[in-house]
Amino acid sequence: MDINDILLHHGEERKKYFNAVAPPIIQSSNFAFDSVEDLRAQISNEMDNHVYSRGNNPTVKILRQKIAALEHAEDALVTSSGAAAISIATMANVSAGDHIICVDKPYSWTNKLVSKMLARFGVEYTFVDGRDINNIKSAIKDNTKVLFLESPNSLTFELQDLEACAILAKANGIITIIDNSHCSPIFQNPIDFGIDLVVHSGTKYINGHSDVVMGVVCGSKEMISKIFHSEFMTLGVNISPNDAAMAIRGLRTIDLRIRRSDASALVVYNFLNAHEKVAKVIYSMSSDFPQAELVKKQMRGNGGLMTLVLKTDNKEAVMRFSRAIKRFLIAVSWGGYESLMIPSITFHDMPGMEDSPIPWTYVRLYIGLEDPQYLIEDLDQALSFL
Ligand SMILES: *Cc1c(COP(=O)(O)O)cnc(C)c1O
Repeated sequence: MDINDILLHHGEERKKYFNAVAPPIIQSSNFAFDSVEDLRAQISNEMDNHVYSRGNNPTVKILRQKIAALEHAEDALVTSSGAAAISIATMANVSAGDHIICVDKPYSWTNKLVSKMLARFGVEYTFVDGRDINNIKSAIKDNTKVLFLESPNSLTFELQDLEACAILAKANGIITIIDNSHCSPIFQNPIDFGIDLVVHSGTKYINGHSDVVMGVVCGSKEMISKIFHSEFMTLGVNISPNDAAMAIRGLRTIDLRIRRSDASALVVYNFLNAHEKVAKVIYSMSSDFPQAELVKKQMRGNGGLMTLVLKTDNKEAVMRFSRAIKRFLIAVSWGGYESLMIPSITFHDMPGMEDSPIPWTYVRLYIGLEDPQYLIEDLDQALSFL
């Protein structure tokens, strides 16, 4: 389907609401029926009909259809957060005694889900360096049910070969799930490579305005229905109709926004890469990126993320640089209009994070929608404090 159709028209039924251009926010918890027979007919398919808003809601349904089309999926669920999307997609596919293979250095709460929460319910796990398919192959056991991928991850940007992972998993009866937040559906569609379930933190590029926390799960009708009838309904992880309307509005411009971030990030990268105070920049579009070939195979762009490695052996210098930055906000998250920075030194020697493998010279940058020259001026003056 054409992306213009998806973003502007798909899923919308304007004739049903006075030909309003923007969809109404159907702020209702439940829906009434003409008769018992009618209720009986509708409730048999609560995922698609309108019965109760913990399950489905007309405003949310518009968003679900657009997201599914963007990810080349048959169906999608929209959840209260990206963490909820990751949790329900994973939990729906494991039971006590099963085993999960998860890539190294996933999103922090994915790590907690696998290594702490599901472990409490008797699910085994192995973390592997997913850059080499052989590591995944050797981790497979008779009870492996899920392969959880995140490509690229959002600090060091390591990739997995999605096609190779899908082939290997299918041959072994394993469900593949990928966190596709980094690329958004604009720059990577894992289902085209054979991946089963795609999850996103919709908080990032999908909503894109730093004002809604949400997530999505995309996949075949059968897999989405399975998740809907178990974890989605029992845990009650639905989004509100109001937030869904906000996200529909944000989604209208996702193509424009991520391409602007992507183009600006390249300009900022070129400046930083040539700077004498910069040791290196970890950026998936650089010619010396270790997995450049794989980037070309499965990604159509990078978006706004990169990690700056400062050239210093002095922690105080990193603090001086961080204090001098004025135009990037110091904040977690990314994918909104505003440029953000998060220095790894924040977490250094923090209780519970002593064994973090990330050096304190790393600074994750997210390039938002500002003029790249405006951001470069700020980085330039701050680097002089190093
Ligand atoms: C932010 C993020 C999440 C979690 O999403 P929330 O919407 O904050 O729950 C998951 N994966 C990645 C890669 C993220 O950056």
